[in-house]
Amino acid sequence: MFDKRKVIVVGAGPSGASTAFYLAKSGVDVLLIDKETWPRDKPCGDGQTAVNDIYKDMGIFEEAKKVGFALIGSRFSGIKEEMTTFAGPPQKEPGGFACPRRTIDDIVRRAALNAGADWMENCEAVEVIRERNYAKGVRAVYKGKMVELRADAVVLADGGHSTLGRPFGFFNDDPELVFMGARGYFENINGIEDGVVEEHYPDKSFYPGGYMWLFPEGHKKANVGVFITSKNLQNGNKRLEDYFTWWRDNTKIGKERLGEAKLVGEIKGWRLPTSRCVGKVHDNGILAVGDAGNHIQCYSGGGFDNGMKSGRAAAKALAEAIEKDDFSKESLETYKTYDEEENNFMLKLCSAVRENVCPDPETYETFLEFARQLPNYPNNNQYMAYIAFMTKYQNIDLLEKYGIDLRLLAQRMSPGH
Ligand SMILES: Cc1cc2nc3c(=O)[nH]c(=O)nc-3n(C[C@H](O)[C@H](O)[C@H](O)COP(=O)(O)OP(=O)(O)OC[C@H]3O[C@@H](n4cnc5c(N)ncnc54)[C@H](O)[C@@H]3O)c2cc1C
Repeated sequence: MFDKRKVIVVGAGPSGASTAFYLAKSGVDVLLIDKETWPRDKPCGDGQTAVNDIYKDMGIFEEAKKVGFALIGSRFSGIKEEMTTFAGPPQKEPGGFACPRRTIDDIVRRAALNAGADWMENCEAVEVIRERNYAKGVRAVYKGKMVELRADAVVLADGGHSTLGRPFGFFNDDPELVFMGARGYFENINGIEDGVVEEHYPDKSFYPGGYMWLFPEGHKKANVGVFITSKNLQNGNKRLEDYFTWWRDNTKIGKERLGEAKLVGEIKGWRLPTSRCVGKVHDNGILAVGDAGNHIQCYSGGGFDNGMKSGRAAAKALAEAIEKDDFSKESLETYKTYDEEENNFMLKLCSAVRENVCPDPETYETFLEFARQLPNYPNNNQYMAYIAFMTKYQNIDLLEKYGIDLRLLAQRMSPGH
């Protein structure tokens, strides 16, 4: 169990599990560890969009469909509280699912083990072993004892509170880009529709970026949450969890949705380190994926898909490094290249949306009005509407200003990509 491995992946959330899956699938000796006893909970909106292809690679698409509630559209409102719908064009399969992370993360983790990854739970990495400036494994507390787990390379997938990446400069603490989020499960919610996600921006605290959400999980039941920048949270006069009662007591939609609703269990919060584009999150013998590498989108808060895609990119780069027997940061630079191919389009697009669609309540209302006037309304995709608003209404050259290549659009906007 404590023999030297090729790769150790720290953290078995979607990012670590996808890394371990793709490594094991290409025949790499990989050990996946997690500090928790599994299955474990993870505060999240539970939305899993744009991961259908990865679920299919992992052989878990049908199982995810069975346990998840299909997401088929979305609705948004700003400070005027007028609803705008994005039903999207008709699709052969849902663009995503919602179900508790306790359930789906365990399915994803088991897919990595089925592919051949080895597994240790209750194993908390406390330090990265460094020798001659190379990561060479981790020191971890396992069953109450300190152990050394050695490897040629380490993948940090230890989530948004990751401190293991701090000595390597991977930790993002910019209060404008680090968000705080909290979620609770509610039942007896009025006015929601099965499969239709809602995002509401009822107050200036939610600009730029941030909202109250509802992800339906059963009839009149939903994962309800708040997502807000650390800066706006610090500048406001409420604790994170106070936003639920504030929204219920001070807004029309909040009152309708939560007025008669009942919280099941407790409200739980977490940290969301976001990025405007893929950063440098690798060094000699080490790379960071998912939240540990700040892969969350800075407008939507989505990180599940970027995390899994960064895992796929990391596995590809590591398999090549193993082939060359070269784990230097120069050799692992390919991780950045693959990660950019996977994630930069959406990270940059979300950054542009944050700056041009929801920088303030007035601009966001103008966008919602614009979206309601688009041909085919309400059967449009929300991202296509953002792009139309930025390029046609605001005349922004997305390639020049943000490096967003719209030729990638059709591919990136296909369901489940
Ligand atoms: C409130 C909230 C709502 C969100 N809603 C959505 C949403 O609806 N859709 C979406 O796409 N994204 C959402 N996100 C973001 C999403 O939850 C994350 O991007 C996603 O969980 C990232 O996965 P990960 O594997 O990188 O990290 P995690 O899922 O956090 O997994 C990290 C794992 O590492 C383990 N670990 C931590 N430290 C150690 C250690 N030292 N040693 C060993 N193991 C360790 C943990 O136990 C954990 O299992 C939300 C986030 C929050 C906070």
